Amino acid sequence: ESRIRAISEAIRVVPHFPKQGIMFQDITTLLLDPKAFKDTVDIFVDRYRDMNISVVAGVEARGFIFGSSIALGIGAKFVPLCKPGKLPGEVISEKYVLEYGTDCLEMHVGAVEPCERVIIIDDLVATGGTLSAAIRLLERAGAEVVECACVIGLSDLKVGCKFNGKPLYILLEPR
Ligand code: IMP
Repeated sequence: ESRIRAISEAIRVVPHFPKQGIMFQDITTLLLDPKAFKDTVDIFVDRYRDMNISVVAGVEARGFIFGSSIALGIGAKFVPLCKPGKLPGEVISEKYVLEYGTDCLEMHVGAVEPCERVIIIDDLVATGGTLSAAIRLLERAGAEVVECACVIGLSDLKVGCKFNGKPLYILLEPR
């Protein structure tokens, strides 16, 4: 599809960032292209608008950019999943393991009602550790995680594959 090609071409690849050997997929250049950014959001909105989704949860920080736009497009609420210490109210937290050390996602208590249908959005999935933690967090709050979705997925994760028991939707492979 020509929209997908243009979106892919709008993403800048920065070699050796933030460290040697990493080919960093930089979505900030996609945000500089209003047509490609809108096409990206529209593709997700078209996918989710008739799926009775009441919550879009976005992973800090780049998941906020795509997630909040998708939430507006489908008429759902947006819930930020934040790094520790960023949310002022009472939170539930979920730790996860990284290559070196651990990290954590937090969500406000009461942001999601039990049995609400949720999609989880991030810019990129690599190992899937971040999305797994997000799924656990939302399920502990009683939500139904319908799908996880990312703009970019590393090539060993096939589009449409099941991920931690949840469908994973990926728009693009890395450039
Ligand atoms: P995972 O937990 O290993 O799947 O890593 C995914 C997380 O790392 C996401 O929150 C991404 O935003 C971030 N990430 C990893 N590599 C990149 C990249 O090349 N570009 C942008 N974000 C990245």
